[in-house]
Amino acid sequence: MTVVTRFAPSPTGFLHIGGARTALFNWLYARHHGGEFRLRIEDTDRQRSTPEAIEAILHGLRWLGLDWDGEVVYQFSRAERHAEVARKLLSEGKAYHCYATTAELEQMRADQRAAGLPTRYDGRWRDRDPAEAPEGVPPVIRLRAPQEGETVIEDDVQGEVRVQNAQLDDMVLLRADGTPTYMLSVVVDDHDMDITHVIRGDDHLTNAFRQTQLYRACGWETPSFAHIPLIHGPDGAKLSKRHGALGVEAYEEMGYLPEAMRNYLLRLGWGHGDDEIISTEQAIEWFDLGAVGRSPARFDFMKLDNLNGHYLREADDARLAADCAPRISKALGRDLDDSEIALLARAMDGLKQRAKTLKEISENAAFYFDRPSALTPKAAKNLDEAGRSVMAELLEKLRALPDWTEEACEACVREHAEAAGLKLGQVAQPLRGALTGSHMSPGIFEVMALLGREECLLRLREIPTQVREE
Ligand code: GLU
Repeated sequence: MTVVTRFAPSPTGFLHIGGARTALFNWLYARHHGGEFRLRIEDTDRQRSTPEAIEAILHGLRWLGLDWDGEVVYQFSRAERHAEVARKLLSEGKAYHCYATTAELEQMRADQRAAGLPTRYDGRWRDRDPAEAPEGVPPVIRLRAPQEGETVIEDDVQGEVRVQNAQLDDMVLLRADGTPTYMLSVVVDDHDMDITHVIRGDDHLTNAFRQTQLYRACGWETPSFAHIPLIHGPDGAKLSKRHGALGVEAYEEMGYLPEAMRNYLLRLGWGHGDDEIISTEQAIEWFDLGAVGRSPARFDFMKLDNLNGHYLREADDARLAADCAPRISKALGRDLDDSEIALLARAMDGLKQRAKTLKEISENAAFYFDRPSALTPKAAKNLDEAGRSVMAELLEKLRALPDWTEEACEACVREHAEAAGLKLGQVAQPLRGALTGSHMSPGIFEVMALLGREECLLRLREIPTQVREE
């Protein structure tokens, strides 16, 4: 049997972090088994589905590198097929017409509530003679669900879960206006798309019972189910925006790398011993449903930052430069040219060592392309009167330097410190301030070599006096 999984988002909002994890698990499961990963956009809610949300979902999946097999299936376009299945069940006696009006059903529920009973359809048209059908009332089609026994699901994550059939009423399959219900559409689509494994959030666990009943009525094989616990905030409460309940594009914007995101999402609810850093290749090799935890995973920005820092340090410098260039261009208000992007790539190793995100790298790299016009308060302190006079003397020595290499610059600065009876920091810190505007930067000799002689001398001649906020 070929494993076929799917991701079936409703395009009523962006691809949020929980959805991205569901997509990743389905993708990994399919790739692990050499199977297929399909994408179905569940756009049947015409009021709430938007093209922007569809675009955001496709973009988010592409950004995460979760490629799907075959064409995207749009659920709404298959409504006629869904209706056809409902009508077939009707003709086989496995479903029936129900003519109860909305008012009548409301009354029924009110009576049930008053009697302290659970509200559910009471089967009033289940065995009634269709000849009794009222004139002019368009009926819905309901499933003739089993009333005795129980429906059992062997869930790959939750284990065996069961419900008494008496607790489930006869669900509507086709509405009076001929449109299929969500439950019908999902089952028909999963069947027609040959889905073998349904892996999704455990907020859908209760749907799985009804869906199982529907599969049986249709005479179709039920797929395996795996319901994954939802993601919670670091405090264990429902995930809030502040704690990470954001669209995938927000993570892209914040400067996380897709491979770090994949690693992080993988660890949200799945584990392999104590391994924290797990490459995608390794994840494909190891992924299984048995290791998905049963309790909610907790989202933790600090862990994500640490992982991202790791992947930044591993990443190719030219790639990171290409990733950061648009961000820097935007901040500068002009496009970096090719030679500047090449400079950025050369500077990348120094920049990425301490950074957690592309955003941070981009902010820290700006001084390479934009002469500082103000100093951070700490840099200003380092560039007090004494610091400035040290710089004036250093400027003269640097001017006379025959080669402008990292080593030559370092030797010159060290010599100057020694000759003036200063500690290295007393020269290097004001120098950092003069060249970068900040008290923090990559190694100052590397910065000197990368900026080049002309630029360094110029910045030393024109040290800003203004102080900016940090
Ligand atoms: N469309 C549903 C959702 O976005 C998922 C349905 C399913 O996975 O069966 O929550």
